[in-house]
Formats: sequence, structure tokens, C-alpha cells
Amino acid sequence: MDFAFDNSFHDSMEGFYAPAEAAKPSAPKLLIFNHALAERLGIEVGAAADEQLARIFSGEEAPEGANPLALAYAGHQFGHFSPQLGDGRALLLGELVAPDGARFDVQLKGSGPTPFSRNGDGKAAIGPVLREYLMSEAMAALDVPTTRSLAAVATGDRVQREQAHPGAVLTRIASSHIRVGTFQFFAAHFGVDHVVQLSDYVVRRHFPDLSEAANPHLALLNRVIGLQCDLVARWLGIGFIHGVMNTDNVAVSGETIDYGPCAFMDRFSVNTVFSSIDANGRYAYGRQPQILHWNMARFAEALLPAIHAVDPADVETAKDLVNEIPDRFRAVWHARLRRKLGLGEGTDTAALIDNLFDALEVQGIDFTSFFRALAMLLRGDGSLLERLSSAPDAMAPWIAEWWQHIEREEIGPLEIADAMDAVNPVYIPRNHLVEAALGAAEAGDLAPWLELLEVVRHPYVPRPVWALFAGAAPSEFGPYKTFCGT
Ligand code: AMP
Ligand code: MG
Repeated sequence: MDFAFDNSFHDSMEGFYAPAEAAKPSAPKLLIFNHALAERLGIEVGAAADEQLARIFSGEEAPEGANPLALAYAGHQFGHFSPQLGDGRALLLGELVAPDGARFDVQLKGSGPTPFSRNGDGKAAIGPVLREYLMSEAMAALDVPTTRSLAAVATGDRVQREQAHPGAVLTRIASSHIRVGTFQFFAAHFGVDHVVQLSDYVVRRHFPDLSEAANPHLALLNRVIGLQCDLVARWLGIGFIHGVMNTDNVAVSGETIDYGPCAFMDRFSVNTVFSSIDANGRYAYGRQPQILHWNMARFAEALLPAIHAVDPADVETAKDLVNEIPDRFRAVWHARLRRKLGLGEGTDTAALIDNLFDALEVQGIDFTSFFRALAMLLRGDGSLLERLSSAPDAMAPWIAEWWQHIEREEIGPLEIADAMDAVNPVYIPRNHLVEAALGAAEAGDLAPWLELLEVVRHPYVPRPVWALFAGAAPSEFGPYKTFCGT
């Protein structure tokens, strides 16, 4: 087993973290290891036995070259500022530089308390660990920027939540774990110098092309806004609801991070909320663009002293960047939707798109299947569309409107259908399947979870043997609630 750690954050950002150590698990047992990801990262697994992988990825044995640490951060949680959060149940082992030169954090999640744990135990239960593993790997397969999952290890210990659960540790891979909340922490507690140091580090690590900008901090704001617009547009396009878009859960790299209460919407409704703690629907499906705007305003506030220090006139530009977010987001989102609908850039689709969401909402149509049904219609098969809608005629006016747009395209319907199928998934981690798989895993049977993982890793091409994975939940599944519980 060979790691080539190169720990730039540890080495150059002293004062931005607290050294920490993993707790010793009593009987670590490997649940899964992501060999394809290990290869992409350049980790030489060689002949390492499962027992060794379990020791390393539970925190029992620190790999050579690791400098375990907990990152400091703050964050707005449901709109309220928490000045002191930080890695309370996560431990950054170090950074790897992959063979292609890309740099990644290797982090254990659930490996015991850190200086930032406050009253928490720093542990994680097997359910949320396997949930994050599944969700993040599904998102990667769906072409959404995301943290990845390298390993899940059962610790052999019990974790006390409302009940006692088997404990586990997830190994999370990220371009970095620096969040909007990291900037907020240093802006709130330290001076502009720290914000500048952090911004310079982020630019060097993630966006070296911005280092020559007249004001790199302003350029960073602009870049992160762009990445977040793209990210949230991708979420909306697959019916993903993050569930806890607090500023400490917004990575500046533009990756989806923190798969606590997230879930995919089945029947379309713009107000869909799954998280049990989101009583007011702050993070509902359709509110995610507004929250993105709000979060980027907080990011701008934290960066403002650094932006001002380079050139006071740039503060106005920063305000403009924030004010332009709704228009910028809408452009990105509509471009994505046009691809989902098989339409090119040329035509004005604003009305078509508004009407689509009205029709889907009224009909309560399964969001994922709908776009596949449209492509089938282009191939002359209206059967799926008919099955999705309780009153198929009610969709007819919108279908006619869409068809007019299709007829104006330069390529023919069959080619359009293929292009649509390449961006509209058949398989997503559907709530009823996720719950069933996690229930079995907690009871000791990993097989359904492994099968679901295999399915969601291949989202675009339908397979007859996977027919049961494509449909909406049976009606008896009832309203779905998710929990932050870790
Ligand atoms: P989250 O809502 O999952 O983003 O977590 C918010 C904050 O709570 C972060 O600072 C976490 O590190 C901390 N936290 C969550 N669960 C635990 C736990 N079991 N033990 C210690 N800290 C935790
Ligand atoms: Mg978090």
C-alpha cells in the first residue's frame, strides 16, 4: 500500500487547522473499497489485504506521510451565523497528487472527536456512511461535480443516536474541503491578512489561472459564483435536493459536499423538501437557486476586505457580481434544460420552460422518467408518457408546443432522442430503493446496497434486468423524510 502524500494545507496554512488523531476502532472490517477511484488517485493498493485497508481507512493505522488535522470553519446554518463549527467528525489525513497532476484531500469521516467536536462524538453510523457513499458515487456517474467515496469500514463499535447503531467510517475524497464557511471563519475571527492568505492558497490550488488577475480575490469570487451556478443547475436538472445548503456545506471547488439529508425528487413539485429539520422549506427543490445567491453574498462579504485591500473600486464590481447571480444562473439553467429537452441554442424557450414546470407540477409527473418518455415519443413510442400521467391529455398542449420547437431543430428526431438519452438518466438513487438497501445493510446484508450502487453507477443506458430500479416508489411508500444523523 503506497501513498504519495503532499500536504500543502498542513505545510503552508498553519493556524487554519488543529492537529487531531483518529480514535481506535475496536474491530474494523472493510465494507467496500473503490478500486477504480484508488487507481485514479494513484494509490498503489498492490496486494494489500482487506484487513490492512480496514485498518487504514478506519483510522486505526495512519498511512505513512499523513498529517491528520481538523479544519476550522464557521457557517450560516439555516440563515443564522455559527462562528465556530469546524471538522467535528472528520479528519483530513493529507493530500494526494494524482498521476494527472490533480490534487485531492483524503479525509476520514466518523473517526472520532476532534478539537471542533463540541458536544458531538465525532462518530458516524453505518446508515449515513453508506448513504453518502451511494449518493456521491451516483452523482459522479450523473456528471455532477462531487466529493467521492474511497472506502467504507465498519468500526465494530456502537454509535448512540436515538438508538444505538453499528459505527462506520467513510473515506471522502475532495478537490479540497475549503468551504465558504472557511472564509467566514477567518473573516470573523482574524483580520484581512488571513482572508488574503486563504484566498491566495485557494487560487494557487484550484484556480492557478487567476493568479495573474488584477485582483485575484475578485476573480476568485467570480469563478466560485460561476461554478456554483453550474452546480445548482445540474442539481435541478436531475431533481436533486441537497437539503442543507448552509454556507459550511458549500465547497469553493464547486463540488457537491455533505450528503446528509439529500434526496432525489420523484413526482415533480417545486416545493419538495425531504429533510426533517427543514421545517420552513428553506432548502426546497425550487429554492436552491435563491439560496445559492444568498450563500454567494455571504462569500462576497467574507472576501470583501481582501478585495478592497487590492483596489477599493473593486468592491462595487463585487456587488455587481452578486447582483447578477439570478440572471447568470437562469442562463446556465435554461441552457441545461434545453439539452434535456433536445433543443439547441437558437430558439427562445423561456415560455416553453415556464409552461413545462406548471404542467409537471399540476400532473405530479415523475421528473426523471419524464425526459426519457419525451425521447421515446420522438421515436414514435408514447407508452411511457401515457403511464406517467394520470390524465395524459392534460400534457398534450405542452407536448404540442415542445414539438414545434423540435421541428425547428436542424437534426432529426431520432438523433435528438439519442442526444437526450445521453443527458437524461434512467436510474437515480430512488428514495424507496435507498431506504430498503440501507435497512438491509444495517441488518448485515450488504447485497441490495451493492446492487443499487452498481445500478446508479450506470445511469443512462436502460437494462431490462434493472426494470424495477427505474420506476417511481410504490404508493404505499408514503411521504419520505431524511435526517442529518451521522
Ligand atoms: P453538518 O450539518 O453535517 O454539515 O454538520 C455541521 C457541524 O456539526 C460540523 O461542524 C460538523 O463537524 C458537526 N458535527 C456533526 N455531527 C457531528 C458529530 N457526530 N460529532 C461531532 N461533530 C459533529
Ligand atoms: Mg457539513
